[in-house]
Amino acid sequence: MQGINSKRVFRRNENGPNPDGDFVVYWMQAHHRYKYNYALEYAVGWANKLDKPLLIFEELKCDYPWASDRIHTFYLQGMAENADIAEKKGLNYFPVVELNSGQSKKIWQELFKNTCCLITDEYPVFFIRDRNDRLGKQFNFMVRTVDSNGLIPLGMTEKAPYNAYFFRKIMQKNFIEGYTAPPSEDPISRLKNKSYVSLTKRQKEIRETSLKRMHNLADFIGKLDIRHNIGPIALAGTRPAALEKLDCFIQHGLKKYDEKRNDPDENATSGMSPWLHFGKISEYEIVKKALEHQPQNWDLDNITYNGGSTGGFFNGDENVDSFLDEVITWREVGFHFAHHTPDYDKFETLPDWARDTLEDHADDPRKWTYSFEELEQSKTHDEIWNAAQAQLREAGVMHNYLRMLWGKKVIEWTPNPKTALEYLIELNNLYAIDGRDPNSYSGIFWCFGRFDRAWQERPVFGKIRYMTSDSTRKKVKLKQYLAKYGNQQKLDM
Ligand SMILES: Cc1cc2nc3c(=O)[nH]c(=O)nc-3n(C[C@H](O)[C@H](O)[C@H](O)COP(=O)(O)OP(=O)(O)OC[C@H]3O[C@@H](n4cnc5c(N)ncnc54)[C@H](O)[C@@H]3O)c2cc1C
Repeated sequence: MQGINSKRVFRRNENGPNPDGDFVVYWMQAHHRYKYNYALEYAVGWANKLDKPLLIFEELKCDYPWASDRIHTFYLQGMAENADIAEKKGLNYFPVVELNSGQSKKIWQELFKNTCCLITDEYPVFFIRDRNDRLGKQFNFMVRTVDSNGLIPLGMTEKAPYNAYFFRKIMQKNFIEGYTAPPSEDPISRLKNKSYVSLTKRQKEIRETSLKRMHNLADFIGKLDIRHNIGPIALAGTRPAALEKLDCFIQHGLKKYDEKRNDPDENATSGMSPWLHFGKISEYEIVKKALEHQPQNWDLDNITYNGGSTGGFFNGDENVDSFLDEVITWREVGFHFAHHTPDYDKFETLPDWARDTLEDHADDPRKWTYSFEELEQSKTHDEIWNAAQAQLREAGVMHNYLRMLWGKKVIEWTPNPKTALEYLIELNNLYAIDGRDPNSYSGIFWCFGRFDRAWQERPVFGKIRYMTSDSTRKKVKLKQYLAKYGNQQKLDM
């Protein structure tokens, strides 16, 4: 609505709002928070304009790809939090926690029948992208998706950025406009019509059952047909957990980020990706916090357009500048790429030079090859790789520098690049709590040359960048990391 950049709003059909509808729906699909959420703000704007109440809908299907106890637990912790807030604030909140595949779809199709309009999150990957593509055709009232993903609206780019440098130029030109038009902190506080949305008896029962399921997770999760061997992790999927982690990073990690972020032993990175992925925190809040730690006299006037180079743009503290380059440029380049690339997860979308060189070397002999199961269980000859995979398997996260090495080695150890890609997507999206994200694909495809340039040609890799465990061992601090995750599973050789 007012104040939201039109480049964030995507019309999913040409219908207007149904004036006879009972309520406006905001469907929380990707950004599971009430604060700093453009899509929720937009839905509140429509509810106010039409003088209708707002219904907030949130669901958990059980048949999404890579469904597991790990993802379900994190997600349901976040949903229970949203339900509690809704209860306290008297919001019309309708959760569905599905027991069997297809239940939720039937429920929302029925529930949305008397709707004025449906607003939901724009999201460029996973089943949400495909579902959003279909939603507009399913209803005869207005359906719009709103982009709350980053600072640079997805509609701002005209084509897929082919590297970070290209995207950084766009970011630099638009940063101030994006940053100074933030999402409202508390859009719900602007909601005018607070009336109660009446539900049928059956709908009330569904709501109650779903609330029970999310609050009694342990009793319920075992009944689902999802992967139970990938268990919950130590992190909680809630907004307070995200804010606490952010504070901890700002106090301890940020001041050494530039120099130490590649050292697994140093704990210098933010650890924000799980909560960013589930939309529990907005990128804007993270950027704002980091900017508060620029030197005392720094303000937005210090920013100078720098033609896409990394240094000399924010012109502040080097740690803050370096962190902002990751959280804005590197994070958002993946969103914009996927937004413009329906086949973002296919080998064919690699740049021509990378595809050609990988295909030229597809038949090169490999010194080692491992099956998916051997990789999954850390059964390779390489101690660092095994440790990184163990961290992913056990803790659900992996350090960024090791993630790069992890991906590169799978290219070296599988029969051909397409198999490597398939295994990496599967391992990442199964085990990583931040998986199934635009950055899952930008990270994995980076290992195959996306967003990168050609390097010196060598066997197997061709001209794509090569990494070794030996140089990693020399370059970064790993001792404590290996003590924690190393030697868990060794190959009998
Ligand atoms: C093979 C491979 C797979 C990856 N899979 C994922 C994934 O599934 N989900 C995911 O969110 N990221 C993925 N990444 C990108 C990156 O590794 C993670 O975003 C980062 O490690 C998250 O840790 P952090 O929050 O502590 O990062 P920080 O260093 O604290 O950075 C802050 C934020 O900036 C963004 N960011 C940082 N580095 C990158 C990067 N290289 N690319 C894109 N965004 C970045 C993330 O949103 C991150 O949370 C992958 C990278 C590789 C090489």
